[in-house]
Amino acid sequence: MVIKTIAVGMFAANCYFIMDEDTKETAVIDPGGDSEDLIEILDKMGALVKFILLTHGHADHTGAITEISSKYNVPIYINEKDQELMFNNAYMFGSIKGDNTLIKNICDDDKLCIGSTEISTVETPGHTPGGVCFIVEDNIFTGDTLFYGSVGRTDLPGGSYNTLISSIKTKLLVMPDNYTVLPGHGPKSTIKIEKGSNPFL
Ligand SMILES: [Zn+2]
Repeated sequence: MVIKTIAVGMFAANCYFIMDEDTKETAVIDPGGDSEDLIEILDKMGALVKFILLTHGHADHTGAITEISSKYNVPIYINEKDQELMFNNAYMFGSIKGDNTLIKNICDDDKLCIGSTEISTVETPGHTPGGVCFIVEDNIFTGDTLFYGSVGRTDLPGGSYNTLISSIKTKLLVMPDNYTVLPGHGPKSTIKIEKGSNPFL
């Protein structure tokens, strides 16, 4: 399994590619912009894009979903609570254009595969009501729920600080210390680092 990180758009949101090396099947997490660059990199890698995964519905994480989804004809997985905010054009949320049948719901404990690599889902509401994290082996893709030394903002539609902190404590910090945290912005971390020194926790 290979993970590639590309910072996209004006807010430098981290887009991640997870590729199963044997089959080249690839999941694209949070393609937030710069669709032409992303497609060029995916094609250079020989990626067989299988689906798009969204940690949440904000525009800086979803800006390239239409282009990537139509280029590879792949579904877009996002929790239904954030789908609703996107369809309602809520402030700071991205828009869903094109083929709506490609939008799929994803919930707690849902599992998807690229080749023999399993990706599981954990719901972590708070930054947005439909926020989720994805777990692949010992990596957690935390979107804007948990950052290196920080947590996501909660002043946007559907946000809740208490819910966010509760999600992090009950869903993420219970994971093994050695798990790598791959956030939606900024550098990576580990569960151990965040447990030990994140001032919000
Ligand atoms: Zn966000």
